[in-house]
Formats: sequence, structure tokens, C-alpha cells
Amino acid sequence: MSNDIAGPESHAAHGTKGDQESPRRVLVTGAARGIGRSIALKLAAEGYDVIGCYRSESKEARATQEEVENLGVHALFTECDVRDRDAVEEMVAHAENELGPITALVNNAGITRNGPMPLLAGQSWDDVIDTNLTGMWNVCQTVLYRFLRRKSGTCVNISSIVALSGFVTMSNYAASKAGIIGMSKSLAREVAGHGVRVNVVAPGITETQMMEDIPVPMREKMLERIPLKRFGRPEDVAELVSYLVSDRAAYITGQVIRVDGGAAL
Ligand code: NDP
Repeated sequence: MSNDIAGPESHAAHGTKGDQESPRRVLVTGAARGIGRSIALKLAAEGYDVIGCYRSESKEARATQEEVENLGVHALFTECDVRDRDAVEEMVAHAENELGPITALVNNAGITRNGPMPLLAGQSWDDVIDTNLTGMWNVCQTVLYRFLRRKSGTCVNISSIVALSGFVTMSNYAASKAGIIGMSKSLAREVAGHGVRVNVVAPGITETQMMEDIPVPMREKMLERIPLKRFGRPEDVAELVSYLVSDRAAYITGQVIRVDGGAAL
């Protein structure tokens, strides 16, 4: 792995809000839209430079990058498929070279390919596991390695309440999201002694394009079971992520925290 962690400091000092403290940089995967977009905007508003990646170039990705830039921080948005280890390494090395060391990682990229188990194509299983679980592992390995060398860094991995309760037609998705929890708890133990924290956020159903994959009658039934009587908004998830990556959560690691309107009650 290349030794490219020390980016030019001049790039890191361009009058961002983060300059008031030590410079902070976050990598958000799946940052083009939905929950990832909200996380990128929330952390940018708090002064983080944002490295955002997504699967394919789109108007949404460009619009989100512009929104982040308008908050007065650096935004480096790029196409990078998290399933591709080499591409992830290249993206991270390039970002650190341009902006300086990444200080926080939010693994948010994810997909669904729902279907009843007997009809679920093998490809749907592979796609979901490869993206949600293996893809997250690729990014964790690449970035946490750097955190370990610097003895600091925080990581938040986005799972789902489906990992905890299961859901019909989502066996592949549930398996990937449950895998994220086991992986994150193991990593949290492994890196804690080096000043690095890893936590998991498990959102309930949240109003994004992904929600459209759930048939309306099913959604209506789910809504009835949410004590706070609404679906989550991407901003609800972003609030918790911003807390977990910050020093306010300095003594929290290896946790799985739900953002589900009380659905678990
Ligand atoms: P969206 O479908 O709105 O956005 C997903 C983002 O992930 C997109 O930017 C997409 O890129 C990116 N992405 C997908 N595959 C890859 C890949 N291989 N490499 C890089 N980026 C990729 O999803 P949400 O915002 O709803 O979901 C975000 C996360 O939250 C996911 O992990 C999801 O499982 C989880 N979650 C969502 C819930 C919900 O109800 N919405 C509930 C619980 C958890 P592109 O824009 O190029 O397509």
C-alpha cells in the first residue's frame, strides 16, 4: 500500500470552517443522494471537507457536490464502486493527496434487490452482499489502515433495523446488514487500543429512493407500527452520524444505535 497519507498542508488550509480547529475530512460513500447526501451536508455545515463517492456519475451527484461546496468547505466527489478494491484505494490515496488525511469515515453506500427467497436470483444475492458487505469491508480496510497508523479516526457504518428484526423479501439485504454489525463490532475491538472508534447506525424505513422499493401496502403497515407516526428523514440519520463521528462521542465504540421512530418498542 502506498505511503501517501501526508497530503500538502496548503491544500488543507483554505479558509474552511474546519480551520478553526484541526482540519477535519470525512469520506462518505453513497453520497450522491438520500441519506448519504444528508450526512455530507450536515458534516460540511459543521466544517468538514467532504470526499463523496457514488456508483455512477449523475446530476444528483453534481448537485450534491455543489451544495457541499456552497457551505464553504472542500468537496471532492467522484465515481467509485466500493466493490472494486483497487478503485477504493485509488480514490482514498487521491483524496488524501489533494486534501490531507481523512479523519472520519461514513460507510453508507448500499442497495436492495428484494424478492421472496424461492424466487430470488443468485445474482441478487451476490449484488447485495458484494455492495453492502464486501464493499464496506473494502473501504474499512483501506481507511482504517490509515487511521491505525495515525492513531486516530472515527468510523460509522450504516446498517438497518432489518438486520435486527428481519423482513420478508429482504433475506439478502438482512444478511448483508447483519454482517455489517458483526464486522463493525469486531473492528471496534481490534482498533480501540489505537484511538480509533467504530459504530453502527441502524435506520428504520427512511424517505429516500430506496424506500420506493417497498410496496405501498407494506409501507402503510410498517407506518402503523412506528410510535412516532412517520417514516424517518435522511436528516434524522445524519444528526446521529454527526454526533458519533465527533469528540462528543469519544467514549462510544462498538455500538449499534437505531434511528427508527421507536419501531423496536
Ligand atoms: P439511495 O438508494 O437513495 O442511495 C444509495 C447511494 O449509494 C447512492 O449514492 C448510490 O450511488 C450509492 N451506491 C450504491 N451502490 C454503490 C457502489 N457499489 N459503490 C458506490 N456507491 C454505491 O439509498 P439510501 O440513501 O436510502 O440508503 C443509504 C444507506 O442507508 C444504505 O446503506 C441503505 O441500506 C441504508 N438504509 C436505508 C434505509 C431506507 O429506508 N432508505 C433504511 C435503513 C438503512 P448512485 O447515486 O451512483 O446510484
